[in-house]
Amino acid sequence: MLTGLVTMRRKLVVGNWKMYGRLVKNQALLQGVSEGVRQLNGADYAVCVPYPYLAQAQSMLQGGNVAWGAQNLSPFEEGAYTGEVASGMLVDFACSYVIIGHSERRGLYHESNETVAQKFAAAQKSGLTPILCVGETLSERESAVTEAVVATQLDAVLDHFGAAALSRAVIAYEPVWAIGTGKTASPEQAQAVHAFIRQRVAKHDAKVAEGLCILYGGSVKAANAAELFGMPDIDGGLIGGASLVAEDFVAICRAAQ
Ligand code: PEP
Repeated sequence: MLTGLVTMRRKLVVGNWKMYGRLVKNQALLQGVSEGVRQLNGADYAVCVPYPYLAQAQSMLQGGNVAWGAQNLSPFEEGAYTGEVASGMLVDFACSYVIIGHSERRGLYHESNETVAQKFAAAQKSGLTPILCVGETLSERESAVTEAVVATQLDAVLDHFGAAALSRAVIAYEPVWAIGTGKTASPEQAQAVHAFIRQRVAKHDAKVAEGLCILYGGSVKAANAAELFGMPDIDGGLIGGASLVAEDFVAICRAAQ
């Protein structure tokens, strides 16, 4: 943890629904989450839903304390890009957040660090808060190159846009080996990488680093959330599977209080 500056960072819990959901199921889930979180005010909360359900999220969550967002966007503003969704379209549905560079997009759709950086810029240009995902694979961890991998992913944005861009962004450290596997990084393992990320940003700008919200993602559950969120550089979570069950997601939100 950096010392010398005292910034109380507000915790943030974001659900990543991935490609799950149907109108009827979402109705119950969104209702359960918004009601369960209504009385909580010690942190910020959001859900990132599939594109077709943004209108549903907007109509069910507006006026409450759960924000909503998307899981990807095009780096381009508009044009002949069949199947893509532009940042301005997300703004039309009052999105606050957009997940950028999730490991499933990096791995399955071959998104490079360069593409991720372009998407990051497109999000910010439209006033969306990008949630930039970074993290190493199991073989990278076993080869002891976790820090090098995370540094390269982070630098793709830092070198292009400077530390100031991170004052309007969220970072999510998500070890790929922990996503959807049930294997969570230990609080100490996660804390070590979070501290590394903060220190790397601090080399550019200590104030931005101190205020930077760094989420942990990877098999967070109600049972392990409080311990993870209790670490000094873990500012909340990006939650996949457990965000699909209202009571589990609400319990994780409560752990961030
Ligand atoms: C994710 O999808 O970003 C994620 C962390 O998934 P899970 O919580 O299911 O591991």
